[in-house]
Amino acid sequence: MSDTDAGLWCVVPAAGRGSRFGGAIPKQYLTLHAKPLLLLTLERLAVHPRVSGLMVAIAADDHRWPGISTCLGKPVATTNGGAQRSDSVLAGLRALREQVGDSQFVLVHDAARPCVRTDDISRLIELGVPAGGALLAAPMHDTLKRAGSDNRVVVTEPRDARWRALTPQLFRYGELVAALEAARSAGVAITDEAMAMERAGNRPLLVEGSGDNIKVTTPPDFALAEFLLQKEG
Ligand code: C5P
Repeated sequence: MSDTDAGLWCVVPAAGRGSRFGGAIPKQYLTLHAKPLLLLTLERLAVHPRVSGLMVAIAADDHRWPGISTCLGKPVATTNGGAQRSDSVLAGLRALREQVGDSQFVLVHDAARPCVRTDDISRLIELGVPAGGALLAAPMHDTLKRAGSDNRVVVTEPRDARWRALTPQLFRYGELVAALEAARSAGVAITDEAMAMERAGNRPLLVEGSGDNIKVTTPPDFALAEFLLQKEG
């Protein structure tokens, strides 16, 4: 099967503690639209015809995972995540070694982004496969300030050509594993897959996605996600 029509596995890092969100329940298990946020995200991915399976990286002591092995008919597997998001992503990728060849593309999508749109995933795959790797992103609209340690402005950053990196991100399995392993060996903190690929000399394609593909990080984000999902019905 060629790259342009093959099924894609998606790694879903879901091992965060949600410390910025606060509260006793990790944010991925808060109920949104009558379902745990994590399940909503998995359904958003599984419903896409090109997604063939989901590998979810969960915390080793996660006792809330519902134990599902399929989602909308697609296989769901879990593995233990790590201390940082990039460790969880790498664990998820390594757990797919039997299923995915080095040259095949994989998606990585944050568990905390339940509002991702099917159309955006389609465009990411359509444009990202021929480009050799890509990420959904949204152009910056606000003016950007760099702060000093006293919280006073040091400089106003130009906002032209500045984008917010979203997920999913799409890369070839072997290249992404190698890039994440190299960053880990070098002790470099990696906050998204594209950053690891850039370090390895790649220039991932930015595919414009909807800005409402928000990452639920704080209680106001949660309220916004609830509103967005309600609106969709
Ligand atoms: O921490 P951040 O907001 O970047 O988390 C983005 C996603 O990465 C979340 O879905 C979170 O559960 C996941 N994560 C993880 N393992 C960690 C930290 C975050 O899987 N150690």
